[in-house]
Amino acid sequence: MITARTTTEYDVEAVRSDFPILRQMHSDNVPLVYLDNAATSQKPASVIEAIDTYYREYNANVHRGIHKLSEQATSAYEEARLKVRKFINAASKREILFTRGTTESINLVAQTWGRANLKAGDVVISTVMEHHSNIVPWQILAAEKGFTIRYVPVLPDGTLDLDYLGEVLSKEPVKLVTLMHVSNVLGTINPIEDVIAKAHKVGALVLVDGAQSVPHMTIDVQALDVDFFAFSGHKMLGPTGSGVLYGKRALLEAMPPWMGGGDMISSVKLTGSTWNDLPYKFEAGTPAIAEAIGLGYAIDYLTQIGLANIHQHERDIIGYALDRLREVPGLTVYGPTADQKGAVAAFTVEGIHAHDIAQLLDSEGIAVRAGHHCAMPLHEHLHVNATARASFYLYNTPAEVDALITALHNARKTFQL
Ligand code: PLP
Repeated sequence: MITARTTTEYDVEAVRSDFPILRQMHSDNVPLVYLDNAATSQKPASVIEAIDTYYREYNANVHRGIHKLSEQATSAYEEARLKVRKFINAASKREILFTRGTTESINLVAQTWGRANLKAGDVVISTVMEHHSNIVPWQILAAEKGFTIRYVPVLPDGTLDLDYLGEVLSKEPVKLVTLMHVSNVLGTINPIEDVIAKAHKVGALVLVDGAQSVPHMTIDVQALDVDFFAFSGHKMLGPTGSGVLYGKRALLEAMPPWMGGGDMISSVKLTGSTWNDLPYKFEAGTPAIAEAIGLGYAIDYLTQIGLANIHQHERDIIGYALDRLREVPGLTVYGPTADQKGAVAAFTVEGIHAHDIAQLLDSEGIAVRAGHHCAMPLHEHLHVNATARASFYLYNTPAEVDALITALHNARKTFQL
């Protein structure tokens, strides 16, 4: 059940009451302040209950059994696919492939489209700010196929060097541009509409890593005209092990399958096999059924609250957080200003290692992440080996930002700074 109001007046306390985990204390008299949403989000009761109900009442395999439970499970699994289709405005449910997350979605494109289409002499453009999941799959394939990867540099203000991108597109045989929509470290919201238009002008395809955008803003894959779009269910209130690859139908039709096995075939003979229709051609084996159903309920929840309301709430929170972080002496926030930034603040504090910051904050009940956040090339570019990262979502409050600031002052005292 969803209790949060969906009026323009955003009721964060009502939203919080939908998330059972937020009711617990971190330790005696210390409330839990969860600011690690870029890593994974918490789950509302409606998602937890949907998974519970599946296992208690209609657990069965999908697409196979001709019995009541299997039909129920199949229809719930396919209904989840329809919810995803509508959520990102894909033209057809055949363009929605369930995966385990963004990482698997990108690897799928690399291992099918990439393996079939990229060869020595070709160029793939990525960026210095990418998560490892949008660098390593291309490096693995490039080592085998011999194509070149060019990385768009990051400018001092935390945005991409679009002049460099334009130059490579105009001068080199680019087949694919693969980039993140929103940076999980800098928070930069990249101008993907512009990148897609420029890439298409020279006949290159575009893959967008939407892991940090789909949970936070309205996405319309048809309006974007994007070729592939990858995201993770667990960062948008859904379960771990749920994710999506959107691909334009004509591209998916032409791509060879990736994993072979049950469900992805039309017929199997000892002399060879033929493939099932989309999307099943890319969903070999028993899928993550409960997880897909849970993701569908997460989409229901986000839709009910309204992504525009969530986005506005996050803008308010990150604006407030950036203002208050400035009060902490020796603290540097990386990335652009609030107007160009998602709800992420990665920072360092002079004289305290990021891991020590995270540990001291944890002792005050505040969960942040510390390290390279799977973006080592970006940290090399920033000349830091680790940052602490506070990332916000629909249930975070200004009071939690205040708790973060107080704990950071306390950390400096502990280090006698
Ligand atoms: N891309 C970005 C921008 C991310 O932030 C993450 C996760 O942190 C990923 C990709 C990988 O997502 P997953 O681990 O769910 O596959």
